Amino acid sequence: MSKKRILTGDRPTGRLHLGHYVGSLKNRVKLQHDYETYIIVADVQALTTNFANPEKIAGDVRQVTADYLAVGINPEISTILVQSMIPEIAELTVYFSMIVTVNQLRHNPTIKLEAAQYGYQDLTYGFLGYPVSQAADITFCKADLVPVGGDQIPHIEQTRKIVRRFNQLYRPVFPEPEALVGEFPRLMGLDGKSKMSKSLNNAIYLDDPAEEVKKKVSQAVTDPARIRKDDPGHPEVCTVFAYHQAFNQEETPEIAEACRAGKIGCVACKKNLAQVINSLLEPMRERRVPYQNNPALIDDILREGTRKARNVAIETMKEVKAAMHLDYFPI
Ligand code: ATP
Ligand code: MG
Repeated sequence: MSKKRILTGDRPTGRLHLGHYVGSLKNRVKLQHDYETYIIVADVQALTTNFANPEKIAGDVRQVTADYLAVGINPEISTILVQSMIPEIAELTVYFSMIVTVNQLRHNPTIKLEAAQYGYQDLTYGFLGYPVSQAADITFCKADLVPVGGDQIPHIEQTRKIVRRFNQLYRPVFPEPEALVGEFPRLMGLDGKSKMSKSLNNAIYLDDPAEEVKKKVSQAVTDPARIRKDDPGHPEVCTVFAYHQAFNQEETPEIAEACRAGKIGCVACKKNLAQVINSLLEPMRERRVPYQNNPALIDDILREGTRKARNVAIETMKEVKAAMHLDYFPI
């Protein structure tokens, strides 16, 4: 029996961070052995917020790929592809756009939140429609499972709606994909205000040097009610505690108790956390070295992955066009 498929990916809009790790990357690394895994570097989707400075994207395509390799995505078993190099994905987006209502897109909570964050008074068609492009990403390879962070749930739901509508209107071509959300679906940023995000300058990056991690953790927002070291703390409102929960589960109950009793100060608590995060990142730093020394390796991996994925997309599009009666004659 052939393996089930995974499609997952990221926008090349900067370096990947700890939020990506606990939200999605960790699952991908684990599942790549059991599923045929496709990982999309979604550069077309990066344009939804970077249309005015597309020259930035090329570097980020390589950066995101290096981050994948550093966390342990194995290019021998997982396929990493560049979205814009597979025109069939754009083609499928157009067909899907016929069967999505504008209201569904307008009421998508993630779209609303992101539009507000980016300060878009006048949403572009491409931004409003990016869940449709995402549906095409997921379905070109007929994915069964999509490992993502919590903000993506409305988008996967949208994909399922499109798939159901397509299969019912034309012919059953696509499986209905399921979202698989990581253990920590929405890791907070260092500011304690929004989710950790590449675009909000509140992240610890997977390639941050050890010193940088220490510095960022030491500046993270904690319980505002705690002024002196022996004031009783409130771990449930503390960003540093949230990171302990994500990266230092063993010690979490002890830390919560000591914090509530005012027995551990924020400085010591942060020092401990920085160490834990650095020991998670250290093997990633090591895995990154060969690619830093020879960046051409990254392009080789992307070329091979994109070629393989394109063949899959071409086959899917043949089925799509036949289902839609658009297969008039060969040219
Ligand atoms: P941008 O700010 O450019 O949108 P981002 O940090 O939100 O960047 P994306 O490329 O949009 O990153 O998201 C990639 C994947 O990582 C998605 O599955 C998303 O749900 C997940 N993800 C992003 N941020 C977090 C977070 N803070 N916690 C958990 N998962 C996250
Ligand atoms: Mg995002």
